Amino acid sequence: MARCRVCGAPAVICYPESRLCLCRDHFLEHFESKVERTLRRYRLVREGGFVLAAVSGGKDSAALLGVLSRLSSRLGFRLAAVHIDLGIGEYSRRSREAAVRLARELGVPLAVIDLRELLGLGVPELAVKARRPPCSVCGLVKRYLTNAAGVEACADAVALGHNADDLAVYALKSFLTQDLEAIPKLGPGTESIPGLAVGRIRPLYLASEKESFLYAYLSGLPFNHEECPHASRRLLEFILKEHLASLESRRPGLRTQFLAKLAKRLNDYPKPEGEPRPCRHCGLLSWGECSFCRLTRRILGEPMGPKAREYVRAKLEEAGAVMCRG
Ligand SMILES: [Zn+2]
Ligand SMILES: [Zn+2]
Repeated sequence: MARCRVCGAPAVICYPESRLCLCRDHFLEHFESKVERTLRRYRLVREGGFVLAAVSGGKDSAALLGVLSRLSSRLGFRLAAVHIDLGIGEYSRRSREAAVRLARELGVPLAVIDLRELLGLGVPELAVKARRPPCSVCGLVKRYLTNAAGVEACADAVALGHNADDLAVYALKSFLTQDLEAIPKLGPGTESIPGLAVGRIRPLYLASEKESFLYAYLSGLPFNHEECPHASRRLLEFILKEHLASLESRRPGLRTQFLAKLAKRLNDYPKPEGEPRPCRHCGLLSWGECSFCRLTRRILGEPMGPKAREYVRAKLEEAGAVMCRG
């Protein structure tokens, strides 16, 4: 049986690329210092800053909130969390329950944004009415509402739980489909655009899915183990994920080397043309009318961005997750 390199106890994980094996305690320590190094190297947080973590209720968001809550005092930033209840039946109910328990156990203020309460519809009905795949509507709604939450909370950044496995897949997909403008947004952090968009940070940028799962699991953090019922094995993302896992097993370390190099070259990729402008309805980032306002205008006859911002703000205030001056 593999033994921990530090203390000789039975190992819970081995890294083939460095032949490092670690026991539970030393793995938890290793994971936390890896995330801390990511935060420092890419300057993702600042002392006295305010980070709003997007918590889905799954393993990655559990690892994210767990590790950030431990690092927030060491690095001197304030932390709150936001969960979006997407209204996908039992799956959303259990995800929400996990997010609420997680935040309570960690003592982090949590605002719950309930899509059904806001729009009267959940993701499945929105997708049917919009005649779009549920995952595309879901992505749009999540991006909009997390950005709205970050702006309304006056956060320096919204922290996302994407791990290295996810990000390598997104980057490869963007390359294969030649959606090169999407690539600069896939780095460890994006800048805020005052009033329009909050910066996004990915503290788990160099952490694998396996590490993220182990951290959440071994720390005893609550999370929903289920996959979203809309997730499909036919999606390009899934196929790429399988292939990358097989590449990684034959070339250990390939994924994180790829991401570390990509992070240095993000500026070499094209950026969308033209200046971002405030949405004419809600004022958040768009090129005229934002996609959330367009979607809700078509389906509900009214662009719901302005109401969504008001609703999100009220929920954040209720949770004590706002840090606006003046
Ligand atoms: Zn050990
Ligand atoms: Zn809008």
